[in-house]
Amino acid sequence: MIDKIPYGKQDITSEDLQAVTSVLTGEFLTQGPAVSIFENEFAAYVGAKYAVAVSNGTTALHLCTLALNVNKDTNVITTPITFAASANCVRYCGGSVYFADIDKDSFVLDIAKTEELILSKPAGFFSGIIPVDFAGFAANMEAFRELANRYNLWIIEDACHSPGGFFIDKKGLKQYCGSAGLTEFCVFSFHPVKHIACGEGGMITTNDETLYKKLLLLRTHGITRDPSLLEHNEGGWWYEMQELGYNYRITDFQAALGSSQLKRAELGLARRREIAERYQSAFMNKPYILGQSGVVEGHAYHLYVIRIEKRKELYDYLKQKNIYCQVHYIPVHTMPYYKRLSGEKVSMPVAEQYYSECLSLPMYPTLTNEQQDYVIREIDLFFNSL
Ligand SMILES: *Cc1c(COP(=O)(O)O)cnc(C)c1O
Repeated sequence: MIDKIPYGKQDITSEDLQAVTSVLTGEFLTQGPAVSIFENEFAAYVGAKYAVAVSNGTTALHLCTLALNVNKDTNVITTPITFAASANCVRYCGGSVYFADIDKDSFVLDIAKTEELILSKPAGFFSGIIPVDFAGFAANMEAFRELANRYNLWIIEDACHSPGGFFIDKKGLKQYCGSAGLTEFCVFSFHPVKHIACGEGGMITTNDETLYKKLLLLRTHGITRDPSLLEHNEGGWWYEMQELGYNYRITDFQAALGSSQLKRAELGLARRREIAERYQSAFMNKPYILGQSGVVEGHAYHLYVIRIEKRKELYDYLKQKNIYCQVHYIPVHTMPYYKRLSGEKVSMPVAEQYYSECLSLPMYPTLTNEQQDYVIREIDLFFNSL
């Protein structure tokens, strides 16, 4: 039988190994120079002014909500079709999460429904929105910014799926995910299933110097040694803990792996887009595929999602064939924790319908054409045998 084909997978080359080994045998395992090198390279890649590397995507989100002073009186809107961390980061600070339904074609947070939710509450009720570039589709941050400006909201773009992705703005220019030109913060994850693998790792980008400095402080216990920030100074050993921060640092060897992986990010993205095109042409006019769509310009294809009937049967069938698909995502508002908080009142019909039909097919740069053809053939065999 063919080797196991997962839905996503990291690609570690001998250059990656070399980069990690040279840090491991060097002076700094953590708090060394590899971290700021990775930050500068990443900021340049996405086109942001500042980047702060952290221990994972979830701590990246948490530092953003901390820096934006989210507290028990803060209400924030996000999408139900995302990983739980997009919502949890609000809860870590005691704030309340509200979900707005997704757009039926792009599956990202629906702007009109977000505005409906805002208008259903008193003025000033909401403080921020956390849109997600779901599957790698670049949510239109220009439109979200206009909405946010109308209601005085901040934006955290959860770009964990979309390094290298972009949308075309009203002027016809490419707006890259994570460039932070239109949002307070953008957040990335370097979990092995994402585009860039560090094992664990995350990044926040911003163009705001004050927010950037706040992130640096909060990442390391709220402690600073910067002479210009100290309240007073008793000597070379002196530091001050000025805020309640955390240890959310990334190590130097993870950062070195990130830098090495980043060199191949555009190649990986090009291969993802090629795989997406091959799926698209294979599924064109197949009656079992619900909602045919063309390849979307600027899509970063973290995931390739099809929608079908008999999702559970297909999932089980493919698993028997050693093809391990996944479902992204079980809607966050249906999780027991969030149901308890909302008293089960929340209903998101588009997200729930989408969830009942979605399946993420294998999508990663080292997936071969032969492996992909096998996946396509097995899906075809499954539906033809019904
Ligand atoms: C992976 C992911 C996260 C969390 O990142 P971790 O590095 O796993 O903590 C947050 N949001 C989205 C959309 C993700 O895909």
